[in-house]
Amino acid sequence: MGTYRINEIFYSLQGEGVRVGTPALFVRFSGCNQACTAATVGFDCDTDHTAAKEMTLAKIIVDLRSAGPRCEWVVLTGGEPALQVDRELIDGLHEAGYRLAIETNGSIELPAGLDWITVSPKMPEDRIRQRTVDEVKYVLTAGQPLPASTIQADHYLISPAFREGQLDPETLSWCLRLVQDNPPWRLSVQLHKLLGIR
Ligand code: SF4
Repeated sequence: MGTYRINEIFYSLQGEGVRVGTPALFVRFSGCNQACTAATVGFDCDTDHTAAKEMTLAKIIVDLRSAGPRCEWVVLTGGEPALQVDRELIDGLHEAGYRLAIETNGSIELPAGLDWITVSPKMPEDRIRQRTVDEVKYVLTAGQPLPASTIQADHYLISPAFREGQLDPETLSWCLRLVQDNPPWRLSVQLHKLLGIR
């Protein structure tokens, strides 16, 4: 049995997207294949995902059980979880009784079997390999245009970027205008950052 490089496992609420507010266990995978900065995508990556513990699937399940014993949903996040998520992990977590959501930048095609897929592109869409998803979420700052998305999704979301933990009024106003001018795009605010929870 292999191991996975895990940054942290914790219990919280889904902080953004269509499923916002749903209690969820989070498995944060260590490492990413992007290095987002204000110069490349309009905002600096504010997720600390570099520290890692090597964990077996069995150990991940033990830690999930102790973090949130009654929780149904597990969110696989990062970093970039698609670098590590495989069928063994998906099948093992399903057998343990969990439903699985994933938050990915879309640069790697995912294995089958996930229950909810969120792609938040951090590159031009012609480099996105996960083409069919539940929701697409663009994180934008003031002045950034909305790409004409060709990803097949049930929900299209615009998320105003936070800067140093704050929601900049100019960015919020820009995103509100984009949503109003571009149906079916909808606004998704990062509730966990507004509430100061992780
Ligand atoms: S893709 Fe996400 S986790 Fe990776 S560097 Fe960009 S913002 Fe950070």
